[in-house]
Amino acid sequence: MGKDYATDMHTAEHVLNGVMVATFGCGRCFSAHINPKKSKCDYHFDGVFSDAEARLVEERVNAILQSGQPVVETFLSREEAAVRFDLTRLPADAGETVRVISVGEHDACPCIGPHVANTLEVGTLRIISHDLNDGVLRLRFRLDAAS
Ligand SMILES: [Zn+2]
Repeated sequence: MGKDYATDMHTAEHVLNGVMVATFGCGRCFSAHINPKKSKCDYHFDGVFSDAEARLVEERVNAILQSGQPVVETFLSREEAAVRFDLTRLPADAGETVRVISVGEHDACPCIGPHVANTLEVGTLRIISHDLNDGVLRLRFRLDAAS
């Protein structure tokens, strides 16, 4: 993978999703556009999402990132994985083995993409805007480089 694939952004997406699910009980993002400079994730969301919620999400994501969580891959049979995860977004031809990416004990989900090895490589996540329209919350974010 070249450096133009944003492994840090994509790893941040995992952590962000884990925090969104744990904090608000919403689902993981149903749509994501991950780019090196700026990314966005869309969530089905009930309730209020103001600046206060945005700051809370940032704090929780950054606490995980800065605690140096290992990003680890494990392989499960499709049957085992189906018990723990929603596999509907996995391609039908993904095979009998499902790759699961875990970020410490904070998040785990099936994923075929590349990641950093440790969350310390991600830097700091900043939510640059949040919009909630018709039950869809869009978060745009960027990363301040790891120092
Ligand atoms: Zn991934």
